[in-house]
Amino acid sequence: MKNIYLDNASTTPLRPEVIAEMTKVLTENFGNPSSTHAFGRSSKTLIELSRKSIAKNLNCSAQEIIFTSCGTEANNFILLSCIRDLKVERIITSKIEHHAVLHTLEVFEKQYNIQLDFVSILEDGTIDYNDLVELLSQNKKTLVSLMHVNNEIGTVLNLEKVSQLCKSYNAYFHTDTVQSIGKTEIDLTQLPIDFLVASAHKFHGPKGIGFAFIRKNIVLQPLLLGGEQEKGLRAGTESIHNIVGMAKALEMAVEHLETERNEIIALKNYFVEQLYLHFPEVVFAGKPEDTFYNVINVILPFDESKTSMLLFQLDMNGVAVSRGSACQSGSVKPSHVLEAFVSKELLQKPNIRVSFSHYNTKEDVDYLLEVLKKI
Ligand code: PLP
Repeated sequence: MKNIYLDNASTTPLRPEVIAEMTKVLTENFGNPSSTHAFGRSSKTLIELSRKSIAKNLNCSAQEIIFTSCGTEANNFILLSCIRDLKVERIITSKIEHHAVLHTLEVFEKQYNIQLDFVSILEDGTIDYNDLVELLSQNKKTLVSLMHVNNEIGTVLNLEKVSQLCKSYNAYFHTDTVQSIGKTEIDLTQLPIDFLVASAHKFHGPKGIGFAFIRKNIVLQPLLLGGEQEKGLRAGTESIHNIVGMAKALEMAVEHLETERNEIIALKNYFVEQLYLHFPEVVFAGKPEDTFYNVINVILPFDESKTSMLLFQLDMNGVAVSRGSACQSGSVKPSHVLEAFVSKELLQKPNIRVSFSHYNTKEDVDYLLEVLKKI
């Protein structure tokens, strides 16, 4: 049986070069980076070189990068700090954010008594910029938290527009860039973004490591209390091999960005073309021509009864994709993202999210189509 991995928005396989680099660190650099002896100093050097490399790839300064255990932690840290330390009174976000932001904000809304406003979502799954302007016009100390690339449907936020808008209305701007870091160019000298977050396992790096970018001169208090690591903002002995692995993964992603992006664009276009050919009534959540190049959310013109079995059948045939609807005890619960803008009728239809990486081939797409045709 074949094994086809088309779930790269969930996580990605590591690049062999990243594994090699991490193995070297695990073998040779066990010193505690806080120790002052040579073992410790060599570990500390690796961490700071990694920080510099990551900063260079985003065009920011190394001191603006804080390592965290994952994207979720980085999001939690920033959102909490904005309320607690920057005294933000109101947060503008959207219903299509990842749960790492959405659930966190729902808890903070009650815990810290902040105002939570949701910007409207248009029919194509993008945010309504006019509504954002309207919300920003209210005179309150505000944070805008909107994701760059949506993990379920691939819609893309106009970072330039939103960051400039936030600047002009004097609001802080946080963006969850977990799905886009390493997959598109982000230049932090050009974009007035205050905070962004990343997670290495989304760009062919290891799991258990991410980072937060915090714009210079924004003073936050620690997330984890204890030692002096990460400028005292995130105490705990650093995961050196993971940090080095993340820096290597980002370096390689940036180095190969153009070629790999072109390969993936060609695959996605081929998939769309073939879907229209074999399933003329197919529809998409988010316009495939506008959504991010590696993600596509397909609503299949199958009978509703096939919804709960679809993923299982794909899995039985060796194909890994994700579903936009979670099946819970026999009934299918639509994803919170699709629920925000897709019609009730379409929500009943079987739906899959396919997400590509440069490791995928046209044969993978053909195989997926073959399996879908048999369902
Ligand atoms: N934000 C987005 C958009 C994601 O897709 C994910 C992972 O699925 C996360 C945050 C959470 O990242 P992590 O798995 O590193 O906690």
